[in-house]
Amino acid sequence: KYNFCAGPAALPESVLQRARDEMLDWQGKGLSVMEMSHRSPEFTDIARTAEADLRELLQVPEGYKVLFMQGGASSQFAMVPLNLLGQGGTANYIHTGIWAKKAIAEGRRYGDVHIAASAEDNGLTAVPLSSEIHLSDHAAYLHFTSNETIGGLRYAPTPEVPTSVPLVCDMSSDILSAPLDVSRYGVIYAGAQKNIGPAGITLAIIRDDLLDRFKPETPTMMQYKVFAENDSMYNTPPTFAWYLSGLVFKWLKEDIGGLEAMGALNQRKALKLYAAIDDSDFYTNPIQPAYRSIMNVPFRLADDRLDQCFLAEAEEAGLLNLKGHRSVGGMRASIYNAVPEAAVDALVSFMNDFERRHG
Ligand code: PLP
Repeated sequence: KYNFCAGPAALPESVLQRARDEMLDWQGKGLSVMEMSHRSPEFTDIARTAEADLRELLQVPEGYKVLFMQGGASSQFAMVPLNLLGQGGTANYIHTGIWAKKAIAEGRRYGDVHIAASAEDNGLTAVPLSSEIHLSDHAAYLHFTSNETIGGLRYAPTPEVPTSVPLVCDMSSDILSAPLDVSRYGVIYAGAQKNIGPAGITLAIIRDDLLDRFKPETPTMMQYKVFAENDSMYNTPPTFAWYLSGLVFKWLKEDIGGLEAMGALNQRKALKLYAAIDDSDFYTNPIQPAYRSIMNVPFRLADDRLDQCFLAEAEEAGLLNLKGHRSVGGMRASIYNAVPEAAVDALVSFMNDFERRHG
């Protein structure tokens, strides 16, 4: 069966198998990773190896901290303003859809927010050009969402702003999907449950010079600096999720061959699926081609009365979780890193067949 869930999403088969093999007895130690002290040499090694592999995959430059946190990307919506507005200034945001909107709403709780650009002007079907981004005076940062998981809108190319304004990006649904130039960013964050690992752990990458900008009232457990100074172990971290994320990083490095190869594979998968949609009169995707998500492909059937039938037949064919987000309806195929090309081939063939029978 193939899992197209938007998150928690499919994990690589070989990662799950290895986790199962090591579940009760990790490398002959006679206990599960879940039962180890987070301060034990064994877990310290698991944690450090995961971080080193991630740094290698993303080629994180010197001068950045990699933090393993909790609370999901939704907590980052608050952590970003709390950690970056301590020296005053205005929080700048680009509105691209449902997730950006949530980040903006949370930003408003902690400071002055300025909407520097919005994709609403074109119906959330294309992202603003860099020339359309108008920053406020004293911009403390510019936040954007690289991939709108629900809308299927991809931010490309990365916004160009003066280097004095830290770029902050919610990469929850496309981190690790292709090579990335981390040096362009002040803060990158992502919930794990799409391309990193299981739910319960959250990644944040922050440039060192931004660690001292937190507001004094920031809760200890929400300060990037506290996590940075304590190797992400100020309190008990989500050890099993950290371990599994480490297995995913190894898989990306060793089985896939790194982010260049992952990016090429993801492009191929997405192009196949969009071609199937564009070649038919039965399926539609509203996003302008240059901005279509490589990870989440929303589509509609010509007659939405067929939605239930489509989902039921898809499930019977072993194609799971294709229902669109409850706020927008229709269908959505999430084709993250761990979804193999064969899954896309099976979906395309099912869609063609369904169209022949019902179109
Ligand atoms: N940002 C984006 C782009 C997302 O897709 C999601 C969840 O799907 C979130 C934020 C919220 O993440 P979490 O559930 O980890 O808080």
